[in-house]
Amino acid sequence: MRPFTYERAQDLAQAARAGRGTGQGQTDAPVQYLAGGATLVDLMKLDVLRPQRVVDITPLQQDHAAIEAGPAGLRMGALAKMSAAADHPAVQRDYPVIAQSLQLAASAQLRNMATLGGNLLQRTRCPYYRDPSWSACNKRAPGSGCSAIGGVNRTHAVLGVDDSCIAQYPGDFAVALAALGAELELMGPGGARTLPLEALHRPPGGTPQVETTLASGELITAIRTPAGPWTRRSLYLKVRDRASYEFALASAAVALDLDGDVVRQARIGLGGMAYRPWRAREAETLLAGKPLTEAAAEAAARAAFAGAVTHGGNDFKPELGRRTLVRALLQAAKLEA
Ligand code: FAD
Ligand code: SF4
Repeated sequence: MRPFTYERAQDLAQAARAGRGTGQGQTDAPVQYLAGGATLVDLMKLDVLRPQRVVDITPLQQDHAAIEAGPAGLRMGALAKMSAAADHPAVQRDYPVIAQSLQLAASAQLRNMATLGGNLLQRTRCPYYRDPSWSACNKRAPGSGCSAIGGVNRTHAVLGVDDSCIAQYPGDFAVALAALGAELELMGPGGARTLPLEALHRPPGGTPQVETTLASGELITAIRTPAGPWTRRSLYLKVRDRASYEFALASAAVALDLDGDVVRQARIGLGGMAYRPWRAREAETLLAGKPLTEAAAEAAARAAFAGAVTHGGNDFKPELGRRTLVRALLQAAKLEA
């Protein structure tokens, strides 16, 4: 680990000022915020993240960790622990897809430590990104190339990728939020704003080291999920190499508003497949107004992966993703609203 300065944030404004002008959205920005530390400390020990200044935002927890559910929706403070949101009765009852995406993530110890905001900003698990002995990684060393293209790429993305980076976004929670159309409350040196969750992660586009659309010094303060007739009939299905403590190879977050067996509206997020939590809008459109039969679910799943691009090791992923989505849709249709 390299030397760095450590300071505790006094308040939100001071934390935001500390990050001003320091690498907008960049994975390796010189100022990093310490929330639960599950990503940050891990990657500092691997010498992948090399901040000069670590600003501990845990003192802000008292003002930014509340979880409140009401008629307009759910608002969760970004410094709430993953376990607090997963175990919250209103989240479990009215937004089961969110509760399940958190329950199925990481381990109990990590969920007790890690925060919701930090979870959204976790980094890819691409092995070449996490191991600096590999010189070619555009995300870690801009312009150096991509070792995963032509290398080991079994877990890598198949949607929204390009030749600069095929890394997948590995988180679960954000997939549920994408399906439900969540928004982020942000506070930065320039003031407060809201950002659709779907607009948080940038496509690689030749500069995969710039991962998010956050301005420098901008903090996520809360996550808002609108209420809707689909949130109760919802689930998160995660497929992975082992049954627990493992990232998703494929996942589907599904929320349904049904009239009998006819779909009024379907909301679909896909995980493990893209550089960001992926909203499958083509599949949602195909399902609207139709009975949710196996044939309809399969047609929707085909549409969701129509644009998939594979690189050898991950050739199996579109088929796995299609099957995961079909299963999730058919299981969700059987749930009580
Ligand atoms: P930190 O590590 O403290 O911060 C992460 C990053 O976010 C830093 O760059 C920091 O600057 C920034 N940051 C933190 N909070 C804010 C904020 N409020 N505003 C702006 N920037 C902020 N995740 C899953 O989804 N599914 C899994 O199955 C899973 N398995 C895991 C297994 C292991 C072994 C490990 C180590 C992690 C796993 N994770 C998994 C990832 C884990 O959930 C994340 O590491 C964790 O949620 C990060 O949250 P944190 O609060 O610890 O963030
Ligand atoms: Fe680096 Fe992205 Fe290529 Fe992985 S996929 S080696 S993160 S550029």
